[in-house]
Amino acid sequence: MRAKLWIIGVSIAVFLCGELVVARVISSDRASVIETNRYVGLEQLSTVRARLEGLLQANLIAIRQLRTELMLNPDLDEERFQRISSSLLTSELHIRHLAIGKNYRIVMIYPLDGNESALDFDYRSQPEQLNSFMAALETGEITINGPVSLVQGGSALIARVPVPQDESQNHIVISQVIDHERLFHDAGLDQHPFLQISLRGNDGLGQAGNVIFGDEDLWQSDPITQDVLLPTGSWVLAAAPADGDWLPADYPMVTSWLIGTLVVLLLTLLTGMVLLNQQRVREAFRLITKQARFDTLTELPNRHYFQEQLGNYLDSCERRREKCALLFIDLDHFKEVNDALGHAAGDELLVIIGNRLRASLRKDDIVARLGGDEFVVVMKNITEAMHAQVQAQKLLKHIHEPVTLGDQDVIVNSSIGIAIYPSDGESVDELLKSADLAMYNAKNTGRGTTSFFNADLRQQAASHVELHHAIMLGLQNDEFFIDYQPVVNSKDGSLHSVEALVRWQHPVHGLMAPKAFIPIAEKSGAIRELGNFVLNQTCLDIPALREAHITGRVAVNFSSHQFYDQMAVDTWFAIMAQHNIAPSNFTFEITESMLLPDRERQRDLLLSIRHKGIQLAIDDFGTGYSSTSYLQHFPVSMLKIDKSFVDRVPEDRHQTALLAALIHMARALEIDVVAEGVEQVNQVEFLNKHCADLIQGFYFARPMPIAELIERYGGKSAAKGNTELAKKDN
Ligand code: C2E
Ligand code: CA
Ligand code: CA
Repeated sequence: MRAKLWIIGVSIAVFLCGELVVARVISSDRASVIETNRYVGLEQLSTVRARLEGLLQANLIAIRQLRTELMLNPDLDEERFQRISSSLLTSELHIRHLAIGKNYRIVMIYPLDGNESALDFDYRSQPEQLNSFMAALETGEITINGPVSLVQGGSALIARVPVPQDESQNHIVISQVIDHERLFHDAGLDQHPFLQISLRGNDGLGQAGNVIFGDEDLWQSDPITQDVLLPTGSWVLAAAPADGDWLPADYPMVTSWLIGTLVVLLLTLLTGMVLLNQQRVREAFRLITKQARFDTLTELPNRHYFQEQLGNYLDSCERRREKCALLFIDLDHFKEVNDALGHAAGDELLVIIGNRLRASLRKDDIVARLGGDEFVVVMKNITEAMHAQVQAQKLLKHIHEPVTLGDQDVIVNSSIGIAIYPSDGESVDELLKSADLAMYNAKNTGRGTTSFFNADLRQQAASHVELHHAIMLGLQNDEFFIDYQPVVNSKDGSLHSVEALVRWQHPVHGLMAPKAFIPIAEKSGAIRELGNFVLNQTCLDIPALREAHITGRVAVNFSSHQFYDQMAVDTWFAIMAQHNIAPSNFTFEITESMLLPDRERQRDLLLSIRHKGIQLAIDDFGTGYSSTSYLQHFPVSMLKIDKSFVDRVPEDRHQTALLAALIHMARALEIDVVAEGVEQVNQVEFLNKHCADLIQGFYFARPMPIAELIERYGGKSAAKGNTELAKKDN
């Protein structure tokens, strides 16, 4: 949920950022459109300015001409003035009249018609006019004033220019009245198709002058401007769009925003989806890693991850020259708890123990579950081995505290083996092996104790390695062979089947019984090669047995260590196929532990074997797993009751009752029962009484070479053999 919120947060941020970008893009596009339009407007205004300047200059030709005339001919008479002026005033120009002022008075005017009132006008009578007159004199250039009110009515621009005088002290000024309304109209100020135009700068004062054309307000709206150059001073033209806005009315503001928002939304959606997907992948990865690394029950690191962790830690120990202790913890009698209280209670117990271990250690120590009821603890950076011992005692105590499972209080003991890095092993494997051996030592010396790895154990480990190599070498050198022990029908002594038992003719130690090497072969892995040898040898022997009319199945012992994967099983069938021996010739003897509820993979392998026609027998029945419920669900053909049950029968009443009950149960389940290790006649009699007909024991026959077997049981298997019960095999 938190992860989702985070993604929503990021998506919202992406959306807001996207919208910000859209807003910026639109605003910058708007600004650039406005800029472009202003630029276009400026070009148009510049045309207007050029026309206005052109027209003004054209108008001023008259005043310039008249000045030249007056300079050449200071005594210009009225008639000549009229003639020249009439030639200068054409209808295309905007001159209303021309006048000559001498010593502050207008002395000549053209046309006189309509301007009579202005003739003889004294500039000094109007201060404003006098100022203009004086300014014209001072500058010596053409000045343009106005628009000003005229004596003869209306208003107009007045251009003035003084005429330089040589000797006389007369002030002569020519003035030209220009109809500004027509001038502006002809220059196009009032009828521009796109622009609204205003002009300011009366008396040539530029920006400082008053507005002389157009709307005063236009100047407040950030208009575009152009200076109009006058002979002295200037005017300023200003313009704004005719429709009031530099941004066109059809500018696609909303559409752009909508499209932008749509794109941003898509982007947000995409980002959200990508993030969600990534999140899911991350979560899946985390889960897979967790499942691969942690035991699902106790949530402690599993064997694989523990080995990785320890490997890394040992590397750093080596660099820093630190010591550490590996504590190998095994719960005592866990199986009994599991059997008595059920699988779920067993699981709960493991979880509780896991939690106790975790709680009683330092934070950076490592705790892991290797599988089953095996835990390991790594105490980091210890200075004294004694510290490990103290800690191990503490753990024993914690584990020993009562555990409430359901409505029952249970007390479990444990055995702890301790190995110290680097003295007891420098690699993960070595250290684990040492701690494991130490743990077994602790178990052997009495449960509920701790034991350090020591020289004896080291010696033992070394001899195990030696033995492993010897077994592998022995297999190469044909030092192994098989004896067959008959399983006999006790009623008539006829042969039911045989069990293949491996033997080792060791070049130095002589004949070795399986007990001396099978357990170590199981630990070292040599059991796989050895098992394959036994199967192969039985395949070689079976044709000879069949030839001699020995038809019963051949039982082969399989240790759980041989059932490691499908490949091993495939190998067995390949061996049979190679010798053309059908699987129906075999019984595989397995132990109860292989049918434990948590060994699902092995059970699947067993089922596949059963389906191929191989019968399954439970060997040493009664010694391991005390629940028999699996027999109802699992296709077992035979129970081989362990020798220890038979031994004290019939003297021991308790044992006798137990054996009778086992036989009874097997019969109820329609499973064959074989009593193992039968040595005494009274045992045979007891078994016969309880209808346990199949017997394997020295009483009838010891394990023997195949030649002897054929010799004794060959011919017709049911007919031959020892029919006399009392006859003992020696
Ligand atoms: P097991 O499967 O219980 O085999 C029966 C053992 O009991 C054999 O010992 C046999 O000689 C012994 N035995 C049979 N009848 C009597 C009797 O009346 N009195 C006494 N005292 N012993 C009797 P062995 O041959 O020494 O084998 C010991 C164990 O080694 C076997 O016990 C079996 O678990 C294992 N083993 C033998 N061969 C193989 C093999 O090829 N593969 C595997 N994985 N284990 C094997
Ligand atoms: Ca057996
Ligand atoms: Ca047995």
